[in-house]
Amino acid sequence: MNTVTVALGRRNYKIFIGRDLLARLEEFLPRELSSRCLVVTDDNVDPIYGQRLINVLKSLGFRPAKVVVPAGEASKSLAGAEALYDRAFEHGLDRRSPIIALGGGVVGDLAGFIAATYMRGVPFIQIPTTLLAQVDSSVGGKVAVNHPRGKNIIGAFYQPSAVISDLSLLDTLPVREMRSGMAEVIKYGVIWDDAFFQYLESNLDAAMGLDSRVMQAVVARCCEIKAGIVAEDERESGLRAILNYGHTIGHAVESLGGYHLKNHGEAVAVGMVMEAVLARQMGQLDVKELERLMALIQKVPLDISLPGEWHKQQAIELMRQDKKAVGNEMFFVLPECIGRVHIKKVSDQQLDDLLPVE
Ligand code: ADP
Ligand code: ZN
Repeated sequence: MNTVTVALGRRNYKIFIGRDLLARLEEFLPRELSSRCLVVTDDNVDPIYGQRLINVLKSLGFRPAKVVVPAGEASKSLAGAEALYDRAFEHGLDRRSPIIALGGGVVGDLAGFIAATYMRGVPFIQIPTTLLAQVDSSVGGKVAVNHPRGKNIIGAFYQPSAVISDLSLLDTLPVREMRSGMAEVIKYGVIWDDAFFQYLESNLDAAMGLDSRVMQAVVARCCEIKAGIVAEDERESGLRAILNYGHTIGHAVESLGGYHLKNHGEAVAVGMVMEAVLARQMGQLDVKELERLMALIQKVPLDISLPGEWHKQQAIELMRQDKKAVGNEMFFVLPECIGRVHIKKVSDQQLDDLLPVE
């Protein structure tokens, strides 16, 4: 097992990474929890792992209630949150009752939002079940629901008490979700760590095959990198923006495809390549580095072509809404080489030259 500590001001918490951790849950839980607790999961994960978690909790003396939400982004709504508050009150949860998220990013964000707000904050335990959630959304303390005006637009920064990343849970993850998570894994190599990128170049197949030694190293390194960045910039003023590499274009790609043509990681893969091409066009990135990136992404394999629904003007409009934009000026996270990025203003003309019409 690997342990990564996330240090945020006075508050520290640990991420535990390894196989078969669910059975050892008591080692990872904080002290002084109330026995009544709430498990939040979705209707794909529940039939596979729901009962197992409930049994473990009962064996430790907890009295768990469980809420199963429909899988998918639509569950991350205020209406969905309200149903969870109702359940929390019904079951008699108090200020020391943990809310336990068992699922991917959707469940983590929703359950975390409830944990942050129910009685102004109760202990939050994350058990991420997707690669994407283990390397990304479970680290950093962002919790949120969606609003018709935007994704993740109602939320808070709220750190969990513990994150238990049980790699065995990935055994049942659909391969498309596994590949999507791998896009974010590759991102960490590009923005921070050439040695890690090289490790992925040599060990990608083992990672995709869920080799436990390799996967443990991979998830731990991603968590370490993200935890380090977030610790320096908890509230997203500067450094944290580099985590956004591949996402300025990626979000537009995801949105144009209606969030189903390409899922998050698939869109980020396209965004990472296009933003690297942009860096190359601006004379900042060696062609060899661009080729390394493309080769690794294609090895996953992730498709780096634009979705059929591509529409250049709409894409640019979406990019203008990016949170890095200031007024009319657009900023991108551009790689200088594998392992180092910087944030740079990109002119309309440069963007126009990059993006194909269709
Ligand atoms: P993400 O973590 O990628 O942000 P989701 O929470 O939407 O996104 O999870 C992606 C999909 O994978 C959902 O349909 C979810 O039900 C399913 N899923 C999550 N974890 C597992 C797992 N361990 N085994 C099988 N399916 C899973
Ligand atoms: Zn992402």
